[in-house]
Amino acid sequence: MEYEAVIGLETHVQLKTRSKMWCGCANEFGAPPNTHVCPVCLGLPGVLPVANDEALRLTVLTGLLLHCQIPGRAKFDRKNYFYPDMPKNYQITQYDQPSTANGWVEFEFAGGLARVRITRAHLEEDVGKSFHFERHSGVDFNRAGVPLLEIVSEPDLRSADMAHAYLTAMKDILVYGGISDCDMEKGMVRCDVNVSVRPRGETKLGAKIEIKNMNSFSGVRRALDYEIPRQIAVLEQGGRLAQETRRWDDPAGITEPMRSKEDAHDYRYFPDPDLMPFEPVEAWLTEVKARVVELPLARKQRFIHDYQLPAGNAEVFKNDVPLGDYFERVARQSSNPKSIANWVINNLRARLAEGTTLAGLKFRPGSLIELVALVEAKTISTSAAQQVFAEMFDTGKAPAQIVQERGLAQVSDASAIEQFCDQAIAAHPGPAADFKAGKAAALNFLKGQVMKLSRGKANPSLAGEVLERKLKP
Ligand code: ADP
Ligand code: MG
Ligand code: ZN
Repeated sequence: MEYEAVIGLETHVQLKTRSKMWCGCANEFGAPPNTHVCPVCLGLPGVLPVANDEALRLTVLTGLLLHCQIPGRAKFDRKNYFYPDMPKNYQITQYDQPSTANGWVEFEFAGGLARVRITRAHLEEDVGKSFHFERHSGVDFNRAGVPLLEIVSEPDLRSADMAHAYLTAMKDILVYGGISDCDMEKGMVRCDVNVSVRPRGETKLGAKIEIKNMNSFSGVRRALDYEIPRQIAVLEQGGRLAQETRRWDDPAGITEPMRSKEDAHDYRYFPDPDLMPFEPVEAWLTEVKARVVELPLARKQRFIHDYQLPAGNAEVFKNDVPLGDYFERVARQSSNPKSIANWVINNLRARLAEGTTLAGLKFRPGSLIELVALVEAKTISTSAAQQVFAEMFDTGKAPAQIVQERGLAQVSDASAIEQFCDQAIAAHPGPAADFKAGKAAALNFLKGQVMKLSRGKANPSLAGEVLERKLKP
């Protein structure tokens, strides 16, 4: 029998705010343990939470970027459980009235577009972090109370690769929107993976297995690559799957049982009596709507459409936003955006990698347009253009000036080219004979020699014509 996997992800993302969710402590990673704490985030008695307005804005903004509805009323609930890293013994979250619901995300997958429905994106708070030493454990509460967005997908994903593509697309969107830095190294994105399998064609969902607390996208892929075949094998051997929570053991490459449905927590959710329901007013919503940005996929599609770029180039500009913005500023004024893209990606990007910033570029954007125009007009050869680019990058001089100073203007004068061709043929009788004998590729070698003799200035197609004429019987 053929089986299919069904996957839904609950993704937790730390919001990019200056302060924590309910107090003024800094939301900052990497400080010495327990230095960003106060009575509120330590859960001391007698204190009251005050909601962070920017966190509420980022939550609604995420909802808008994910095409969600924004209900007129949301509320905060207490999720009760006991754990050393949770100072209040409850976590403030949004249970049955989240800030955003019913959206979707679209991303490139398997050569086409995939769409996954978003159940909800709601606001909650992060907990502290436990550290285990040889003889004792410690808790760092710097992270406790950091605003956390939980994005829940519908069970629309069908493979490990698709889950990976979804997470990558989600991260891109959140970074674009300024919602979160999504720095995996700093634990800013964690997710719970829900996965079941069923015979292909079956519409009912199978028993859900939840793999908790994954902190890398590649880990999610590895866990699913293990878990999906494991579940199929159980069914094929006539076994039954029951709902349970499992843990991914990355070094061992396996999932193992953590708890079954029977010992699942009862969180005793109830509305937090210290917090007002949240009812966004029109003016506030308008401000948040003004922060909606172009989505990564839309940007890529626009670059392909507006500038006729190959998908690979548009992908580069999707992933490197400042470089893409730079390209666009130049391309808008150029009649040949495709060539501009090639120069930006193949040449400029390589030089930037050596440590220059776009803001520190010595040449004007117009110089790139001029360079492309010089090549187009065949004033300089493409190899001379490389020299011009290098010098214009180093000195900021205008291309025309460099061409003049270095005498790089292409030689299209037939008699000069004839001379270079004669020299090339005389110096390389072997390839010349090869070409005469019918080996067409030998012409390229000779053409290369002409380019070399002319120090890149010969018009290459003219050189080819002349060589051919001279060698053809
Ligand atoms: P819970 O209340 O246990 O968190 P939910 O029904 O809210 O469960 O679903 C949590 C996540 O699990 C969602 O992302 C959802 O898409 C996914 N999910 C639910 N049922 C299944 C299933 N049978 N197989 C795979 N994923 C599922
Ligand atoms: Mg869950
Ligand atoms: Zn605090």
